[in-house]
Amino acid sequence: MTTDCLFCKIIASDIPSTLIYEDDDVIVFNDIKPMAKVHFLIVPKLHIESLKSCDEAHQALLGKMLLLAPKLAEEQGLNGFKTLINTGREGGQEVFHIHVHVFGGAAG
Ligand code: 5GP
Ligand code: ZN
Repeated sequence: MTTDCLFCKIIASDIPSTLIYEDDDVIVFNDIKPMAKVHFLIVPKLHIESLKSCDEAHQALLGKMLLLAPKLAEEQGLNGFKTLINTGREGGQEVFHIHVHVFGGAAG
């Protein structure tokens, strides 16, 4: 847990969120400013700043996050979806705790 990290605070339940999935490694919640009808974030419980901070030690965790996308998208009623990982400030990243965006459905 990194005390000044927004997503670590969500993981610790210090900040509320709409959870759609949780296990020992990963938490998934709806984005507060959805850019589609369905827009959720797949977030590891381990504080990793970005994709640039990942190495081979994170391979299984990253794979787990990606494999969750189609399962959870289907549960949310999506037949297809988009995924996005913003990396670094110049890559549009605003929250520096790695996360996979999953979007689907009409823009909302
Ligand atoms: P990034 O730009 O870092 O890839 O995406 C960060 C995402 O986190 C944005 O889509 C933003 O709407 C979302 N976000 C920011 N603050 C909160 C919050 O307090 N709760 C939730 N659920 N999402 C948030
Ligand atoms: Zn964090």
